[in-house]
Amino acid sequence: MKTFIIATHNKKKLAELERILAPLGISAQTAEQAGFTLDEPEETGTIFEENAYIKALAAMKATGMPAVADDSGLEVDALGGAPGVYSARYGAPEVKTDEGRYLRLLNEMRDIPDGQRTARFVSAVCCVFPDGECITVRGTCEGTIAFAPVGSGGFGYDPIFLVGDKTYGELDAAEKDRISHRGQALRKLRAALAEKMG
Ligand code: IMP
Repeated sequence: MKTFIIATHNKKKLAELERILAPLGISAQTAEQAGFTLDEPEETGTIFEENAYIKALAAMKATGMPAVADDSGLEVDALGGAPGVYSARYGAPEVKTDEGRYLRLLNEMRDIPDGQRTARFVSAVCCVFPDGECITVRGTCEGTIAFAPVGSGGFGYDPIFLVGDKTYGELDAAEKDRISHRGQALRKLRAALAEKMG
């Protein structure tokens, strides 16, 4: 079985990647699980693909193994695409928790009426190989921002992101995989890897 390094500390992202890569005979491990120490690179990119590449390249260089990284976030149309690539750092340094970030977003959106609350989750996933070859894919999921948080599943902005009449936070893992930005990006990655590896 081949091992790919997954450049994340987010256990939920790792689990999503494990589920998607397992059918290809690829085992997903963090750098730490594979016995390496990985310094977090600075995410200096202004688009998701750049940050995914920065993280995957750093993990590949540290381990000498193929490495996969995801960079993702929430683009809200009424806020000009914010928080976007800054989703994980929204409201920093004062705001430090997922709940704090989504409450801040709800507050920013308090005067935005139904019909103008459109948003999308974006995930760019990059896989860098030791020979420098790189595969980059993107998945998106269109939705709207709720008026109040609903549901306790998932992480991040899940309780305020509505797809139809349910938030991501109300979906179980399999339902979320089927429709989510990351599920879509990872299925594209799986197709590209299946082609590359024959
Ligand atoms: P990253 O780890 O730098 O890619 O940051 C992504 C940030 O976007 C996370 O910290 C979350 O706040 C948010 N995010 C990305 N994907 C999801 C998701 O599936 N649900 C909820 N929030 C997400």
